[in-house]
Amino acid sequence: MQALQQKDFRALVDNHPKAIMLSTTEPRIAYVNKMFRAVTGYQAGEVLGKAPSLLSSGLHSREFYRAMWDSLDRHGHWEGLIWNRRKNGETYPQWLTVYPVEHDNRRFFAGVFMDVGDVAAGDERLASLAYYDPLTELPNRSLFQEFLKARVSRNAGENPRFAVLYVDLDFFKSVNDLHGHDCGDRVLQQAAQGIQNVLRREDLVARLSGDEFAAIIELQTDTDLECVCERMTRTFQAPVVVDHREFFLSASVGAAIYPEHGKTAVSLLQNADRAMYTAKLAGRACYRIYSAVDTEQGRYKQRLSEALVASLKTAPEEFSVVYQPQYRLDTGGVAGLEVLIRWNHPEFGEVSPGEFVPIAEQRGHIHELSEHLVRCILADLPERPESLPGELCLAINISARQITDKRLESLLGPLFDRIRRIGWRPEIEITETHLMNLSPQCLNRLRILGEQGVIIAIDDFGTGYSSLAYLHTLPVQVLKIDQQFIRRLGGKCRDSRIVAAILGIAEALDLEVVAEGIENGDQHSKLCELGCHRGQGFFLARPQPWRSLTAVFIDADQ
Ligand code: C2E
Ligand code: MG
Ligand code: MG
Repeated sequence: MQALQQKDFRALVDNHPKAIMLSTTEPRIAYVNKMFRAVTGYQAGEVLGKAPSLLSSGLHSREFYRAMWDSLDRHGHWEGLIWNRRKNGETYPQWLTVYPVEHDNRRFFAGVFMDVGDVAAGDERLASLAYYDPLTELPNRSLFQEFLKARVSRNAGENPRFAVLYVDLDFFKSVNDLHGHDCGDRVLQQAAQGIQNVLRREDLVARLSGDEFAAIIELQTDTDLECVCERMTRTFQAPVVVDHREFFLSASVGAAIYPEHGKTAVSLLQNADRAMYTAKLAGRACYRIYSAVDTEQGRYKQRLSEALVASLKTAPEEFSVVYQPQYRLDTGGVAGLEVLIRWNHPEFGEVSPGEFVPIAEQRGHIHELSEHLVRCILADLPERPESLPGELCLAINISARQITDKRLESLLGPLFDRIRRIGWRPEIEITETHLMNLSPQCLNRLRILGEQGVIIAIDDFGTGYSSLAYLHTLPVQVLKIDQQFIRRLGGKCRDSRIVAAILGIAEALDLEVVAEGIENGDQHSKLCELGCHRGQGFFLARPQPWRSLTAVFIDADQ
């Protein structure tokens, strides 16, 4: 056999499956192999003789590199995750090993690395888990904090202003609950891609946890940040598509600017998080830029959340229900009642369900809340139909997550029995945004309820993205038009086109329509004229405790 020659060794290194770079002690790049060229996008001629810092992303701090050289001196090698920049400007994680090579009185440093985003990089991916989220191929929370620290310490540079963005997906948990984690994972990957598409190459995105993402945004002009936030929320107003299915997530976004809103990595991230919380409180699917007020609100919200969890467990007397009558608009007779939950806390007073129901959902206590709801209704409803008008619908609000909850049937069973025994019909209201994300199994559970005589209503209709094709397949009998469209009917704008269109859709699909939030006579007469079936609102009757309903029932009898 012929002895190996130098060019054979060269070919061996050149074809090695990992990227290899040799640099002198100055340091200058002296050699790069084929894989190096593939990963970085640079040709050999473009990097030879240049400083290796050409490849750096600027994301790591000076201390990071100092620690690397320390380790090389002390242990003879360094190994770890480092983010570098490709020729096209993209930053990417690589698992890098550096060690000195001594030969013929010359000293080099060899750097051997793999792009950990590459599926072939099995071991490297595993090793980088502490800093890197393999699902979305983004940095994780601890690495993000590291980068943010580095960015803050680089503040004096040419581009002093930057912002931290906090993005939280609003309805991701319902995707996970309703469709399982595999599906949730793919939705997250799409969402991560969506976030990256909004940002520029020089910005950095990380996945902090479950459905929370953060980004560092370089600001050139004062309007940059608002544009990015605007685009981010708009991106998530459209559905995320996985396997030809559409998922409606929406995103709440918060932002904090360096140095106005924080001078350290910790305070910037915290304040961007608080701003995100304010966006959630403002109804989700929007963005807020940090202001000092957020801190107080965040603290209030935290205390409220803790009080709610405690009250649900130990203070049933703080919960009660009120009933808001619905009327048939053609005859004026009572058609039904919607039950609305109330919470009266000794310190916080009357808290709106618009505020505490989402907290109960987020903290996984919505079932307990419904238990109180059912208990209160059962305490109000009589055992026998005497003295009650016949054939009313009694509607309760159910959060979509509860549909998958095994405990729901046994919770609602006794309530529905009682409602039927007094000759009324049970009705369930589910908000439109949630309904759109239900899996076929959940829809089936709804269908079964429907077959048992429960009326299913879409609440807040018009705020989500129901498509006609999809509406047609849902086991739904009632649409409740959201109050914002009813508001346009009276007063200055007098715009009845949307309501007329919804009534048209409902007629084609054979659905009954309830108008919510009727506040004046103008709106009421317009709805009667348009042929809307049922109406509900302060103009007709306020939500009220059971004992005040006698007057409503007397009217019904006449
Ligand atoms: P929703 O189901 O759309 O209920 C209608 C809301 O509009 C109620 O607010 C009601 O008091 C209010 N409203 C009725 N008529 C008028 C009007 O003419 N003008 C105005 N401005 N408002 C009117 P409420 O009671 O604060 O409930 C807010 C939301 O909280 C409900 O919206 C529902 O989504 C949720 N919620 C209430 N009770 C429960 C419950 O027991 N379980 C669940 N999961 N959610 C509930
Ligand atoms: Mg409702
Ligand atoms: Mg509603």
